[in-house]
Amino acid sequence: MNSDEFDSELVSINCPICKSKNTKVTQKILDLPHFSELWLFNIVCSDCHFKHNDFLNLSVKEPVRYVYHAENKDDYETKIVRAANGTIMFPQIGAMIEPGPNAEGFINNIEGILRDIRSKALHLLKDATDEQEVSRIREYCDLLDEYIENNLPIDIIIEDPFGNSSIIPNDSAKLETHELTQEEAEKLKTSFIVFEDVKK
Ligand SMILES: [Zn+2]
Repeated sequence: MNSDEFDSELVSINCPICKSKNTKVTQKILDLPHFSELWLFNIVCSDCHFKHNDFLNLSVKEPVRYVYHAENKDDYETKIVRAANGTIMFPQIGAMIEPGPNAEGFINNIEGILRDIRSKALHLLKDATDEQEVSRIREYCDLLDEYIENNLPIDIIIEDPFGNSSIIPNDSAKLETHELTQEEAEKLKTSFIVFEDVKK
């Protein structure tokens, strides 16, 4: 079993929205270093047009927390695999990406995630009404630019109650892996779609 796509017959799943059985599930094992058992899967419902992408890490089923200490350009290119239930935190800049109800999985590097946060902050400018808020948002964007342009030391933390999120480290010495206690895992937000009925 290497990196080929699997037949959708292998998985039977009802649409999480309309419960229809007219769903098409495609999945494949991603060819990534360190994560031989990381699967990408995609579900499309032909009745209600629901679409969802997510990751499944078959080798980890426990709640996990990964911390990566980035401090140079290579580190900023470290890839973050965020499954739908993963929460990303950057303590130094007070940023947190929590899964919303329609959260999906994505892979992005640290720099790309910081750029996303920056563009989301810029969006907030449109709704900012008072000057204080405007300058606060501008200062925050400037701070993000400082980090992105100079690759300042920054920690990224990803927590996942189901262990499906991962970090693919450019330098594995800078990666810490912790198991979360059940209590810590329960505090994490989870999106409402959990594919408990995926059958292998
Ligand atoms: Zn549906």
